[in-house]
Amino acid sequence: PAAVRDRLRIAIQKSGRLGEPSRALLASCGLDFRESRDRLFCYGETLPIDLLLVRDDDIPGLLADGVCDLGIVGRNVLAEQAAGRAAEALPEVARELRTLGFGGCRLDIAVPDGWDWSGPAQLTGRRIATSYPHLVRQWLEGQGIAADVVLLSGSVEIAPRLGQADVICDLVSSGATLAANQLRPVLTLLQSEAVLAGPVRAFTDARAELMALLLRRMDGVLRLRDSRLLMFQTTREAVPALMKLLPDAEPPTVMQLDGQDTLALQTLCRGTMTWQRLEDLRQAGARGLMVLPVERTLA
Ligand code: ATP
Ligand code: MG
Repeated sequence: PAAVRDRLRIAIQKSGRLGEPSRALLASCGLDFRESRDRLFCYGETLPIDLLLVRDDDIPGLLADGVCDLGIVGRNVLAEQAAGRAAEALPEVARELRTLGFGGCRLDIAVPDGWDWSGPAQLTGRRIATSYPHLVRQWLEGQGIAADVVLLSGSVEIAPRLGQADVICDLVSSGATLAANQLRPVLTLLQSEAVLAGPVRAFTDARAELMALLLRRMDGVLRLRDSRLLMFQTTREAVPALMKLLPDAEPPTVMQLDGQDTLALQTLCRGTMTWQRLEDLRQAGARGLMVLPVERTLA
């Protein structure tokens, strides 16, 4: 549908694991909202960007139908839609624009504790319970394995104990749920996290500019996650050794302090600046170390 729109609409999970972090991310991009009474819409106040609060499973469909322009959803959900469309030779309708760094999990095959796992071929002729039938079928096909896929929409981990299936393919983060059900993960089909999903083709109306603005801000925010500005003084000779200790740092800004051989350096570092790292830097010749939070960047 090529409806011309002048507001951008983003679908996010209403509650659940991704709801809160999604809203927090958009808030840190400077978006603020007024929520509708039925808690379905959030109307953008400072920018013409609105939210639709839905179940995560509905997000790929809303993108496909053009009801929403962007969505924040687990890669697992997006990939399941893509695998389903591929199986029916339908064109792609959404793609990953950014990975967002939260909601991390894996889509794993898990087998009963008692199994002596020897590899995928062991699944031949078995029943695999999952909520991700298209991804599992696609993977089985790639492996050349014939197995039965049992579609369950929830509580997949109890299927083997109920005799509904032999093994499962489900989302795993800590593995505690699997362990509690006497299951053990043996292989990973997909590494997942929350992603910003968007259209395959660029917009040609006002939404194009809104999307560019949002991506620019989001890139600034994502770049800053866990980033710190590190400042210190040192001598020219010590710089190479110090930069080796800072593999996660951007090229530093170097200032020559007036009338001395001392240099002042500042650099944006990705990793956490622990006391240990500061001690190591000091050992290598850094003095006056200072770690500062960074509030905002714009490339
Ligand atoms: P909804 O009511 O919106 O359908 P849901 O129960 O399907 O909610 P959640 O359990 O909130 O969904 O999970 C949303 C997403 O969080 C998953 O699709 C996945 O990408 C991610 N996630 C991260 N860790 C896990 C985990 N351990 N189990 C399930 N999902 C996880
Ligand atoms: Mg769901």
